[in-house]
Amino acid sequence: MAKLHSTPNNTDFNWKGWEKISKLIPERGWVWQNYRTGTSSDKSEWVEQQIYYDMLYTFRLGALSPYAKALKEGKLLGTKCPKCGDVTFPPRVNCWNLDCKLEITDWVEMPLTGILHTFTICGFAAKSALKKLPFVLAYVLVGESKTAVANILKIDQPWHTETNMPVIVKFAKEEDRVGNIIDFWFEPDPKWTPSPMNAEKERIEKLCQPVYEWVRILNR
Ligand SMILES: [Zn+2]
Repeated sequence: MAKLHSTPNNTDFNWKGWEKISKLIPERGWVWQNYRTGTSSDKSEWVEQQIYYDMLYTFRLGALSPYAKALKEGKLLGTKCPKCGDVTFPPRVNCWNLDCKLEITDWVEMPLTGILHTFTICGFAAKSALKKLPFVLAYVLVGESKTAVANILKIDQPWHTETNMPVIVKFAKEEDRVGNIIDFWFEPDPKWTPSPMNAEKERIEKLCQPVYEWVRILNR
C-alpha cells in the first residue's frame, strides 16, 4: 500500500460558498421526471419515462493531473513502468502488471500517432453531439501504448474506417482546450488510403444515409 499515491481528502478543498454555487445549478440528479401510460386505447399498456440527469459532477484527477495539464499544452502524456517497461495511454499511476506490485510509473510524452484497434459508427448520440452524426468512435493504440483510448475519428466517409489504419492526433485550438479528452481527436494519417469499397463498406454506407437525412432535418 505504501506505493499508492496519497489520496487528497476533503480538508484541502474549500467547501465554503459551495452551497451558494449549488443553488445556481438545477441539481436534481437521477430523478424520474415523467411516468405515464399511453392515452389512446391501443397504446394503453405503454409506459413512457423520461430521465433528467443533467447534473454537475465534480471529480479530481489527483496524481493524474499532469495528464490534464499537458492536454492544455497540446501534448499527450502517458505512463511507463520503470520495472517492466509497459507504456499506457491513458496514463496509469501504478503499473497494471501484477508482478510489478503497483510500481509507480513515470510520465512519458506520447507521439501524436496511433493505430486504430477497433471502432463503432454512431447513428445516435447524446444531445450535444447529435448534429455531428454519423461519427466514428475509435479505440486507438497511441504510440507504444498497450491500452487503447476511445475518441472521435474525424473521417469524411465513415464506412471507409478500417481496423489497423494509421491515425494522427489533432488538437483543438489552444483557447478551446479544457484539459479534457475533448481537447483532441483522431484523423486518418494523410499518407493512408482506404481499401476499395466492398460489401461491408457498402452496407455501412447505406446505413449512414438515413442518419445524414435526419441531421439535415435537425439543421433546418
Ligand atoms: Zn510494470
